[in-house]
Amino acid sequence: MADEKAKVDMETIVSLCRRRGFIFPSSEIYGGLNSCWDYGPLGAELKKNIKDAWWQAIVRERDDVVGLDSSILMHPKVWEASGHLVNFTDPLVECKSCNQRFRADQVEGTKCPNCGGELSAPRQFNLMFKTFMGPVEEDAAVVYLRPETCQGIFVNFENVLNTTRKRLPFGIAQIGKAFRNEITTGNFIFRSREFEQMELEYFVRPGEDARWFDYWLEQYLNWFASLGIKREHLRLREHGKDELSHYSSRTVDIHYLFPMGWEELQGIANRGNFDLTQHGKYSGKELSYFDEETKEHIVPHVVEPSVGVDRLVLAILCDAYDEDVAQGESRVVLRFHPSLAPFKAAVLPLSKKEPLVKMASDINAGLRKNIMTTYDDAQSVGRRYRRQDEIGTPFCITIDFQSLEDKQVTIRERDSMNQIRVPVAEIQKTLTAKLAGEDFLILPPGGAVVGKKG
Ligand code: ATP
Repeated sequence: MADEKAKVDMETIVSLCRRRGFIFPSSEIYGGLNSCWDYGPLGAELKKNIKDAWWQAIVRERDDVVGLDSSILMHPKVWEASGHLVNFTDPLVECKSCNQRFRADQVEGTKCPNCGGELSAPRQFNLMFKTFMGPVEEDAAVVYLRPETCQGIFVNFENVLNTTRKRLPFGIAQIGKAFRNEITTGNFIFRSREFEQMELEYFVRPGEDARWFDYWLEQYLNWFASLGIKREHLRLREHGKDELSHYSSRTVDIHYLFPMGWEELQGIANRGNFDLTQHGKYSGKELSYFDEETKEHIVPHVVEPSVGVDRLVLAILCDAYDEDVAQGESRVVLRFHPSLAPFKAAVLPLSKKEPLVKMASDINAGLRKNIMTTYDDAQSVGRRYRRQDEIGTPFCITIDFQSLEDKQVTIRERDSMNQIRVPVAEIQKTLTAKLAGEDFLILPPGGAVVGKKG
């Protein structure tokens, strides 16, 4: 297992993302800001599609989960109650020669990985970013940027319960930014100081948590598969008793085979009733649930699947990356699941001349309301196919001179490179069916297979 390698290296992914507008270094014109990244036009689409897919599967398709969007800045007591002020630390060692700092559990031996100098004894470093609220910079005004989104869920437990009248088991889900002043960052968007999380807190009756833990683990493995992530690129890692967080009685991480090796993509934790009990204690409000069956107030237990959006973007980019040969030339292709692809189709007039351009523009404008498309009329059609393959566009629609006569276009599929001829009036229906996963070779009325070309 140890020598397993991802099929793509990080440099290739970083350079593709930079070149094609998926991800740029933050504040690049000023030399960048360490470990901060900006999502470009294609990255913003990809990331939004991933978040939409999660919201759809976890919130909209379920009766037992509701959504929330809580603020990043919260009352400082939240972080006392949650244990973050004391426990949200990593062990830090500093080189006595070059002063570089490292996370103690990420360096092997006692020498500085940078200069070979002697390392200090480890001390605990709190990862929360501090800032001040209001115009006075004094201790009383200190607030923190949230290091995880879930505390916003716990402090709203009563509000959600009272307004939705949900019965156990039920969940509250949220997508949002989190901030951690990580000692060492790196591996592109894998570990940064500002990132996004998609967290679900699923509240259950005490004693039912173990069963729900297994349920959510399986749901997430299925969900990753539905996004096209290969099962052999995922594996589970159970935390040992000595490495569990202060709130957790069981944690299983889902690891992905990233270019730098197997690393955490998502964690599932059994947080018991720790958070609701603590916030009850610190706020003086009892955060409990009245069980109609037993006529008792209980503090629900909670199972938390938590996934980083940026790590999922990276996993999806790596999983989709492929190189093969088309028309005797090698091509790079991102085999995104169509639901995640930034563009679903590219509209390509064979020439820049009228009336071809008018026909292509009209087709593009007609599709745009329902299907995310792009329009490209620069260079040879072969080059344009390559460009769309490289950004993962599942379909290309080519308008040629014959299209003017027979009112038909060619639709070419990214993965198989199969081509079919389809009447203009059937393009939208055909693409919609294909994007919904129907077989590529189902032909609309009047359509014909016209072969396979790069
Ligand atoms: P790690 O051990 O890699 O530091 P963690 O166990 O501290 O991660 P959690 O607190 O379980 O992470 O956070 C839940 C999820 O949030 C992680 O599985 C990961 O996907 C994401 N995440 C955590 N820290 C970062 C970060 N610095 N950059 C990007 N994503 C992150």
